[in-house]
Amino acid sequence: MKSTHITGLSAEELSQFVTEMGEPDYRARQIFSGVHARRLTAFDAMTDLPKELRARLQEQASISTLRLESRYLSSDGTRRYLFKTHDDYPVETVFIPEERRDTICFSSQSGCPLQCTFCLTAQLGLLRNLTAGEIVEQIIYALNDSYGVGVPTPKGTNLVGMGAGEPFLNFAELMKAIRIMNEPSGLYIVPNRITVSTAGIVPRIRELATISNRPRLAISLAAPTDELRDELMPINKKWSIRELMAACKEFEKSLKPNERFTFEYVMLRDVNDSDEQAAQLAKLINRYDVRAKVNLIPHNPAEPLPYQPSSMPRVEAFRKILEAKGVAVFVRRPRGRDILAACGQLAARSAGGDMPAASATRSDERRIA
Ligand code: SAH
Repeated sequence: MKSTHITGLSAEELSQFVTEMGEPDYRARQIFSGVHARRLTAFDAMTDLPKELRARLQEQASISTLRLESRYLSSDGTRRYLFKTHDDYPVETVFIPEERRDTICFSSQSGCPLQCTFCLTAQLGLLRNLTAGEIVEQIIYALNDSYGVGVPTPKGTNLVGMGAGEPFLNFAELMKAIRIMNEPSGLYIVPNRITVSTAGIVPRIRELATISNRPRLAISLAAPTDELRDELMPINKKWSIRELMAACKEFEKSLKPNERFTFEYVMLRDVNDSDEQAAQLAKLINRYDVRAKVNLIPHNPAEPLPYQPSSMPRVEAFRKILEAKGVAVFVRRPRGRDILAACGQLAARSAGGDMPAASATRSDERRIA
């Protein structure tokens, strides 16, 4: 793909691109709105542009580069999209409908270089970083598929950077995508509605704290001690829990009055889910006195991961211990497990729940559910 990927250009870059084409600046605004506000995926649909200009754009630039390979629909309404990039790398995006608001979970990398032992994506290794345009395209695709092309999002849809990859190892492109999506004349998804999750890339946690209008932060913890975390999340050997917590304290200074950050704790049966470990976790959080909540995520099993999810009574007992020690704690309900769309299950695999590419509407969900 040699042409310019329009979807990944900031408003200023698009302006420059249009100027170089010898066109007046207002064309840039029309194109930006066409791609991001109206969510059009072909220049030909931008009927406010002269035909001749559309033809030239068609030659020099592209809007959509991701090719949909498969789409899976879970019995709980969750949708997983498996795309291929122009150079054939897998990208996965998950749409999670909820009572109050919907959530789109996007990927920041194809594959992942981190080797968390409980996560299936790790088995792919890092294939490559995604560009800002490829990140934005995932969201545009999921919005169009779920609500209809150009239809305004009916609720305050949230984004989470919790798909494949480590967002903080692709920081510049991630932040650029977030800036593009924040444009009021475009998607207008404000960073406050976006949460990015990191396995603990300490320098980037510190950097995020310095960015005004930044997204919210989640940190995958998975263990209360270095000994266990070294084993489950080898990135811990580079930045220990102590260094991670020091960065959290720094980040805490950037929190808005009612904001908290999140620790994600995947619950692995007989590995990290004992009463003692709950007490250790509470002690850790209380020792550093961080303004954080804990999300307990029952492990989503997938062959050949060597773990089982904790039983619900175990999760509940663990939760109660944290709560009794004053820690804000929530249990996350697994979504889309049956189509390998849940946390830690994204590995470009096929699964049940295939649905035809042309018939994605809310009525389908009702029909199939
Ligand atoms: N690399 C980033 C982004 C991925 S987020 C990070 O580590 O935060 C994915 C979330 O799902 C993380 O909190 C991770 O701990 C969790 N997770 C990974 N594998 C899982 C699994 N098999 N079951 C449940 N949660 C899992």
